[in-house]
Amino acid sequence: MCLFQFTARRLIAQAHCGLKASSSKKQKFCLEMARPSSNMADFREVFAKAKHIAIITGAGVSAESGVPTFRGAGGFWRKWQAQELATPGAFARNPSRVWEFYHYRRELMLSKHPNPAHIAIAECEKRLSKQGRSVVVITQNIDELHRKAGTKHLLEIHGSLFKTRCTSCGNIAANYKSPICPALAGKGAPDPDTEDATIPVEDLPQCEEDGCNGLLRPHVVWFGEALDPGVLTAVEKELDICDLCLVVGTSSVVYPAAMFAPQVSARGVPVAEFNMEPTPATNRFRFHFPGPCGTTLPPALARHETEIIS
Ligand SMILES: [Zn+2]
Repeated sequence: MCLFQFTARRLIAQAHCGLKASSSKKQKFCLEMARPSSNMADFREVFAKAKHIAIITGAGVSAESGVPTFRGAGGFWRKWQAQELATPGAFARNPSRVWEFYHYRRELMLSKHPNPAHIAIAECEKRLSKQGRSVVVITQNIDELHRKAGTKHLLEIHGSLFKTRCTSCGNIAANYKSPICPALAGKGAPDPDTEDATIPVEDLPQCEEDGCNGLLRPHVVWFGEALDPGVLTAVEKELDICDLCLVVGTSSVVYPAAMFAPQVSARGVPVAEFNMEPTPATNRFRFHFPGPCGTTLPPALARHETEIIS
């Protein structure tokens, strides 16, 4: 009985100590993690040594070029938001309406241009490639503004507004036609009072493979659909070899940055976040630069004094 009491008391004491020790350790950890640096000179030192840079970009980069997302407050096309139209179910029920939505988005992109963030990324890739260093852009944006800016090494994990996929034979093709088919000419107006064009399926964009004539759909990943495994494998490969990761214009709590950046950070690789404001994930990263990425990114990726250009 006596022994039991002693043992029990010791166990409780140990447990208590253990709890105290771990909670104070946790607190210290939190305090350390709660201070990502915004010191550009320190970032530039890391940048100068990096050989493989992975840049994850999201809607924030496109927003600075005036590209709407059709999500969140005020983000409507007619009466709908993207998550109501960008689904396999919506396309099955009303392919004409979904094509009007995508036709509008494609045509809108004719008036949009890369901003200083897109250009800084593309110029950095071009410059570093001459030094035997690599830059890859992993983007969730479907607007091709990175490509327009000159980015070559690009992984579009959500596909592209300017690619189509045949619902019959599966063929994927680049498509920059304007309009994409005669029946969509002048259609797709975004005002809430606009009537649906109700275009017959046979007049919607059709596959041009020999004898197919299947209905085309935008080659974008819709809500409820899985990412292309081939693209994901390529992303994993890049994340495995990168020695610096930038997260630009995406909140880091939403997919895909939520998947990718913490994975890189867990390997001890520095992650730098460039976003309008801190996010709940900010504290997990080494650097955070608040503000519009068109302002913060160009000086971050500019030529470092140690770079030798031949
Ligand atoms: Zn086809």
